Amino acid sequence: MILIIRGHSFHYEMENLCRVFFPYEKINTLAEMPQDISAQTLCVTELIKNETDTIVSANLDYSGKHYRAERTVKNSCDDYEKTCERIMAHALYEVLTKACEYIPQWGILTGVRPIKLMRSLIESEGSVDKAKEYFRKDLLVSDEKINLAAETEKNQEKILSISKPDSFSLYISIPFCPTRCAYCSFVSQSVEKSVKLIPEYVKFLCKEIEITAKIAKDLNLRLETIYFGGGTPTAISSEQLTSIMSAIKDNFDLSFVREYTIEAGRPDTIDMDKLYAMKQYGVTRISINPQTLSDDVLQAIGRRHTAQQAIDAFNMARQAGFDNINMDLIAGLPLDTHKKFANTLDKILLLNPENITVHTLALKRSSNLTKSGEKLEASTAGKMLDIVSDTLPKYGYIPYYLYRQSRMVGNLENTGWSKPGFECLYNVFIMDETHTILSCGAGGVTKIKQPDGPHIERIFNYKFPYEYNGRFDQLMERKGGIYSFYEKYGEASNKGN
Ligand code: SF4
Repeated sequence: MILIIRGHSFHYEMENLCRVFFPYEKINTLAEMPQDISAQTLCVTELIKNETDTIVSANLDYSGKHYRAERTVKNSCDDYEKTCERIMAHALYEVLTKACEYIPQWGILTGVRPIKLMRSLIESEGSVDKAKEYFRKDLLVSDEKINLAAETEKNQEKILSISKPDSFSLYISIPFCPTRCAYCSFVSQSVEKSVKLIPEYVKFLCKEIEITAKIAKDLNLRLETIYFGGGTPTAISSEQLTSIMSAIKDNFDLSFVREYTIEAGRPDTIDMDKLYAMKQYGVTRISINPQTLSDDVLQAIGRRHTAQQAIDAFNMARQAGFDNINMDLIAGLPLDTHKKFANTLDKILLLNPENITVHTLALKRSSNLTKSGEKLEASTAGKMLDIVSDTLPKYGYIPYYLYRQSRMVGNLENTGWSKPGFECLYNVFIMDETHTILSCGAGGVTKIKQPDGPHIERIFNYKFPYEYNGRFDQLMERKGGIYSFYEKYGEASNKGN
């Protein structure tokens, strides 16, 4: 697809919107019309500023037909630039919906944090109704998604109030998996290929935990939640997992910890030894992620386990005493249909987990699935999410966390559902950017948040385990930036209560 940008600088937003409708096409964004435009979808967005008014327009040539939409913006309007961008998105949305005969439920909203946006609108507009109205009229979001966003926002209020200026969460990255899923774009390495790196990785990770705990102590920060992600943290051995949990216990003050989650993502990596070790070290919540309970779909996405193994892993976790279990599902997987998806959901409900997180497949560029050229139907994924929002409230689940990623099938969303009182605090804190997250391990991103303000800085760890092991000392020098940040933006001590 060729996207022409004339007279404005809104290329990022226009490109994102085109991608919603043409997820499989490469979008070539240009300032001028190229010489050869044969056999291409051509979209021209243009802004012409006259003396008192501005004309914004979108023209689309697609499948032998021409579509045009035009709007006028007063030059004297409030926030002129932002208004022009939004109104141009409306024009582009009009031609795209007509040409593709498809209405995306999130309208022109392409950002990843709609709940944060809803919250800031409630604050600035003074009421939920006005915030909803903005979503409806200005962002063209469907009523179903507006209600989902508003309810999620409401359910987060009490969780956000837990966090104090000196609160922080700890993220531990274990970037290894048994095999690579077809849709995965993470840097996670398969255990078979990287088994030699793991012992040294665990040693360095424990060292980083010790260094990070000292920083937290020096700065009087209070640890609220711990989250092990990856990868698949349970892909390593029970002894390795135990030494990491032990490093946390020996170095951090755990007296204020409200939640300790370990993602045991792949059912084929779970055994009773690991479950009991997690219990012994105070883990309160685990995540067992079947993604689907259809064996043919599991096979199609390169998972090495069966649906039954996921169910067995869940039952083992219950037997080990876990009373807060999350199960992740993905809508829009290849070979899945809305009937098979509904069947998966029914089987999950029989297990009665405290959390069910439903993701929409994201077509990440580096994933094997995207490279294979498989085309996935946005409407199928949409129907699956409709089944989720119709069914889960009937079983007592509430939506408490919602975010979006770029390149999601149908521009849909990921939603965390839970039984009341079992919401994952870490998920809310990370997505809302409520407080500092100190991260350890390859691929971890430390996000330092100003105790009483909005300023955020990031410190990136090396992505790959071999870089992490090889350049550990350099990495630890970077962590010194946490002290400088708090020196600049004020220490958090004595601000909590
Ligand atoms: S389990 Fe997650 S991180 Fe691991 S390969 Fe699959 S999608 Fe990637």
